[in-house]
Amino acid sequence: MTDGRYTTRSVHKLIDGISRLIKRIVPARLIPLLLTAYGRLNALLYRGNALTCPCCGGRFRRFKAYGAVKRPNSMCPRCRSLERHRLIWLFLEQKTGFFTDELKVLHFAPEFWFRRVFGRLPRMTYVTADLRSPLADLKADITDIPCDSEEFDAILCVHVLEHVQNEAHALSEVLRILKPGGWAIISVPVDAGRETTYEVETSSRAERLKEYGKSDHVRVYGRDFQGRLESAGFIVTREDYAAELGPDAVRKYALSPSSSIYFCTKPIFF
Ligand SMILES: [Zn+2]
Repeated sequence: MTDGRYTTRSVHKLIDGISRLIKRIVPARLIPLLLTAYGRLNALLYRGNALTCPCCGGRFRRFKAYGAVKRPNSMCPRCRSLERHRLIWLFLEQKTGFFTDELKVLHFAPEFWFRRVFGRLPRMTYVTADLRSPLADLKADITDIPCDSEEFDAILCVHVLEHVQNEAHALSEVLRILKPGGWAIISVPVDAGRETTYEVETSSRAERLKEYGKSDHVRVYGRDFQGRLESAGFIVTREDYAAELGPDAVRKYALSPSSSIYFCTKPIFF
């Protein structure tokens, strides 16, 4: 026996299975094309008017659930943006000249859709960096960035530091390659219930899973994250931007209501 909902769920499961298989067997350079095609198909399956994604402009009846503990309405079915990406996009659009100014930007571990859109902005010189991805312009370790000092106007570093053992070196490198007065958006998962960041000496994946809840994380950040950025030399403004946008926008774009943006500026007289 089938009904419409059962059939739709089966189609989604089949598509997700095919997606995972494709990622394992196709060359890396074809993955953006396939993700684009997969996103178009998903956009049709999820089409509706309940939610809007600011990143791809799509409108959907819901977003996909995502996360180790599944969060409903988390991932845009078309561009794969999560709550944090949608908030950062809105912030860049409404609070900075990111989409219009002539900027040289370095983006660590670039997300598929961001890379696609930012790489086409006519006034931007957009450079991507990643430790492993063959799609990045630079194969680079954030603790030893192969770029000149004061080379970039802006840097995006979203959910990278929680994977990096030597946070001090990473922040020092990000600061070094920024122009004086340049800015970075540095985002990590913050456990708001934790006053200070938790970190233990371990190199075992099993132990990390036990201590941090993720086998590839090296610490759990607490409310002292802003202080850690300031200690590294940044001037930090924490913008509680989801709250500033208000409940209607939080609903419309499916944002996390308590999410903040850490806007980190390199002092002019550094
Ligand atoms: Zn989207």
